[in-house]
Amino acid sequence: MSLLSSQVAEYIGKSSWIRKMFEEGAKLKAEHGTDKVCDFSLGNPDLPPPMAVKTALCEIAETIDQPFSVGYMHNAGYPAVRAKLAAEVAREQQCPVNAQDVIITCGAAGGINAFFRAVLEPGDEVLAPSPFFVEYGFYTQNFGGVFVTAPAKDLTFDLDLDALARAITPKTRVVLVNSPNNPTGAVYPRADLEALASLLAEKSAEHGRPIFLLADEPYRFLVYEGVDVPPVLPLYPYSVVVSSFSKNLSLAGERIGYLAVNPAMPEKEVLLGGLTLTNRILGFVNAPALAQQVLEKALGYGVDASIYASRRAAMAEVLRETGYTFQMPKGAFYFFPQAPGGDDVAFCRVLAENLVLAVPGSGFGRPGYFRLAFCVGEEVIRRSREGFAKARAAFA
Ligand code: PLP
Repeated sequence: MSLLSSQVAEYIGKSSWIRKMFEEGAKLKAEHGTDKVCDFSLGNPDLPPPMAVKTALCEIAETIDQPFSVGYMHNAGYPAVRAKLAAEVAREQQCPVNAQDVIITCGAAGGINAFFRAVLEPGDEVLAPSPFFVEYGFYTQNFGGVFVTAPAKDLTFDLDLDALARAITPKTRVVLVNSPNNPTGAVYPRADLEALASLLAEKSAEHGRPIFLLADEPYRFLVYEGVDVPPVLPLYPYSVVVSSFSKNLSLAGERIGYLAVNPAMPEKEVLLGGLTLTNRILGFVNAPALAQQVLEKALGYGVDASIYASRRAAMAEVLRETGYTFQMPKGAFYFFPQAPGGDDVAFCRVLAENLVLAVPGSGFGRPGYFRLAFCVGEEVIRRSREGFAKARAAFA
């Protein structure tokens, strides 16, 4: 007698690589001491939220004893927060996004789920370049969708337009892109996004149904050396941006994000009505009241991104000096180097024996590489040099 659906039982059976590394890491930390293990396995932002968040919470505390201070509100969020957020998204996306085009969600994850619930028929395909954020497949399957991938270009991890074109079928409903990218740090240039938009316009016309372009952008704020993150909304009418404040305000546990629908989308009210409903019926009801109120006051502030920039430089130095092949991340807080010897799982195991935790690329749909999340202090990065050197030598 099984307590679980067969699908969930199967998910647990396979277990994610990130979880496996987490468990292995906990064991190593218990054995050797937390300060001896260099843990690059989790993308959990370690910088504290900016002072604006504390100030906002103190102000909110003054009115918390009022009726409905944290009661239910419109399923799409507080009107004032939607308006303020819309102005910010309009600036980022360089197009006239208004309050009614924005739905406040439980993080980007909640936003993606609400979006898929609204647009997927059973059997519809969601296409994403690989490697990809590991949860995308689960989110797709939550609604009877089929998750399909097309490899990004080797080493640079830029979009491979030909591979994407080959992967599009009459069942393709959503193309999901994430730039700056987790796990690779790639940032897609404008020309590639324009080419993708043309491809989707052509295929939508051919198949007689719009293919949505969903741009997952929680790392938009975090780019290095002045790299530009081009807006997607002006490029394609059936585009939607999903993002969150998990990373730029370090509010990952508070579950606050948004969906922004292209103001130029034909019949956008229909989609917005659907998203407002799905945000509710998935059981989110609405995004957290407190987090929305914090957002209203703290929008425009952010964590000190220069800390991530110096960690990136330190990590690059360690990897370069210990003989790894990698692409410098243009954004986000991940490196995705090649696994020496080619077997990413075997390599990560040896790395772990040397007290350095990383996630095999297989977990992101790209064997042969491994992911390092630099949400750790610079001293951890510097301390990891010996482990990286020994693991590299083992595969010389
Ligand atoms: N998308 C990407 C690419 C991510 O890396 C993450 C979290 O790490 C998410 C979405 C989900 O973020 P959240 O739901 O916390 O906004």
